[in-house]
Amino acid sequence: MDGVIHFLDLQNRLREILPEYRFYHTLGVSYTAASLAMSHGADIYKAELAGLLHDCAKYLKGSEMIIECEKYGIEITEIERKSPGLLHTKLGAYFAQKVYGVNDEEVLSAILYHTTGRPDMSLLEEIIYVADYIEPGRPELPYINEMRACAFNNLHKATLYELKSVIAKVNQSDGVMDKRTEETFEFYKRIVEG
Ligand code: FE
Ligand code: FE
Repeated sequence: MDGVIHFLDLQNRLREILPEYRFYHTLGVSYTAASLAMSHGADIYKAELAGLLHDCAKYLKGSEMIIECEKYGIEITEIERKSPGLLHTKLGAYFAQKVYGVNDEEVLSAILYHTTGRPDMSLLEEIIYVADYIEPGRPELPYINEMRACAFNNLHKATLYELKSVIAKVNQSDGVMDKRTEETFEFYKRIVEG
């Protein structure tokens, strides 16, 4: 792991750039992720750190994210061009490393996959994926109560609920579904429901 990052310093830096509600969401994800890490035997420090940084690029507007990605040579897919907000994952991992000095690959990939998930996530990736959805500041979302009830004893089941919830919301809004979300759903459906 990198030189120890002081969470209070990091929190103060994030507080300066993020809108207030996003900053509180960040804290919620961080301590929820730390709790899930305790429960599932993951690295608590990494969970807390990834939670704090997962949305560190989200102070930018979609159009600005495209400009930043082009500046740093970060690839933009077709779906990300249509919904540039998705780029906060790639940019977040980039900033975590370049701005906040995090070089731990597990932490960086947990930031990278926190929105779409991916098939066969690492434990830390899955913890951040779920913590992002169930942190206490979240408004009512489909399946959120079921997720909160099972996340501490059956993480895969919580992940599957989250995927169902995301897919339900996309269908309601006629939005576009990221291909990776679909693949992730198929994977977790198979391992949870057989
Ligand atoms: Fe996010
Ligand atoms: Fe988030």
